[in-house]
Amino acid sequence: MPLPVVAIIGRPNVGKSMIANRLAETRDAIVFDEPGVTRDRTYRRAFWCDREFLVVDTGGLVFDDNTEFLPLIREQAMLALAESSAAIFVVDGQTGPTSGDATIASWLRQQPVPVLLAVNKCESPDQGITQAAQFWELGLGEPLPISGIHGNGTGDMLDLLLTHLPPAEEIIDSAEIKVAIVGRPNVGKSSLLNAFVGENRAIVSPISGTTRDAIDTLVEHGGQAYRLIDTAGIRKKKQVEYGPEFFGVNRAFKAIDRADVVLLVIDALDGVTDQDQKLAGRVEEAGRACIIVVNKWDAVEKDSYTIYDYEKDVKSRLNFLEWADVIFVSAMTGQRVEKILDLVTTAAEQHKRRVTTSVINEALEDAIGWHSPPTTRQGRQGKIYYGAQVSSQPPSIALFVNDPKLFNDNYRRYIERQFREQLGFSGTPVRLFWRGKKTREVERGGPNRATRV
Ligand code: GDP
Ligand code: GDP
Repeated sequence: MPLPVVAIIGRPNVGKSMIANRLAETRDAIVFDEPGVTRDRTYRRAFWCDREFLVVDTGGLVFDDNTEFLPLIREQAMLALAESSAAIFVVDGQTGPTSGDATIASWLRQQPVPVLLAVNKCESPDQGITQAAQFWELGLGEPLPISGIHGNGTGDMLDLLLTHLPPAEEIIDSAEIKVAIVGRPNVGKSSLLNAFVGENRAIVSPISGTTRDAIDTLVEHGGQAYRLIDTAGIRKKKQVEYGPEFFGVNRAFKAIDRADVVLLVIDALDGVTDQDQKLAGRVEEAGRACIIVVNKWDAVEKDSYTIYDYEKDVKSRLNFLEWADVIFVSAMTGQRVEKILDLVTTAAEQHKRRVTTSVINEALEDAIGWHSPPTTRQGRQGKIYYGAQVSSQPPSIALFVNDPKLFNDNYRRYIERQFREQLGFSGTPVRLFWRGKKTREVERGGPNRATRV
């Protein structure tokens, strides 16, 4: 399910745009250009607490007092409401209920969508409640006194609104890429985070994640939204309050588990350490896409060969992640920091990618053509019947064979390399499952043996 939509409905001049602006917390209207979403309605991203939704403002509609309502319900209003999880019906507390309000109310009462009745312009402390109370007669439940201009009451209204949105677990915002920044203390994780937030638009900062102290930050770069996971565990301003284990390896593991793409940050001055290898192992085990970010590159004395040598060294020490791109950056000077998110986007695409069975089998035939499966001393030869991608994130390919035991590690690695060469998948692990003819079960040890690419 994509992000839930909230429609704002009401007569002209009641303050709909004022309220929409307040909810969206930005004046620029983004038109969402997604399939299934009609273009001429304006959607804006809005956030409240840990929830995100889209606000659609039906501001241009004629819902006036002097007009017959029904014929004038424009298609857009119907469409906006049809796709909404909830509607905010805005009325003017200073004018009091009008016949136009009553007409809209009777229409809304027949819709299957929960409606919040927002009585706007109720900023007056002594009159607000009375002004709002007049609207009980619309039969839409409790009128909520608010002021779009001053913000009074909007928090309570939004709290109530959240109770009408579908549970967060059901929402997959396909547009969003979840990124974990992990690494040893002092490698520059929080400096990188600050660089991301500084150079890109922070859509919101920060918003709460699954637990109270796991705070995420959302940034936008080139039209793509990135959720930087557990930024509370990266920022360490309040060490004293959190205690050292707050930044420990288990916290990093949890962030890895929630991520699509992991940025494994290495200190260029220290090179790859044991702890880095441990994190790399976890990234691979969890099946996450990964970029190796060598930070503090500004502080390294270099000649023209250094990047090349350094990269070779990093790759050999992080052999779990031989498929990952390595990028050399400086969070301090900003050098190449901007490129990291581009690599993240590519890795996330590859991580999600699905390849058709015919493409996989073409690659397979080619690989077998160059180098046929081994034969045992007893004369039994391995046979690969066909392969198919069975899942993604990470891409997982099942290979149906006569007997998995006939394929030694050497040959498996060869097939893996061929898949990468022919199918791409840069930045993501790929799982190969060698399945026997009889059992069709994942071979013992399955993906934990040398079947990972
Ligand atoms: P829309 O036509 O429903 O989108 O209404 P607008 O948002 O354009 O607002 C119409 C008028 O009402 C503008 O002059 C706003 O300044 C005014 N207005 C909006 N919200 C409030 C409010 O909370 N209090 C008061 N007093 N005026 C408001
Ligand atoms: P974290 O513990 O991984 O979050 O690391 P910090 O972001 O707090 O950085 C640790 C130290 O490294 C700080 O003193 C930073 O100023 C320094 N640092 C971070 N990034 C760079 C960089 O790109 N170049 C240099 N020379 N120092 C950096």
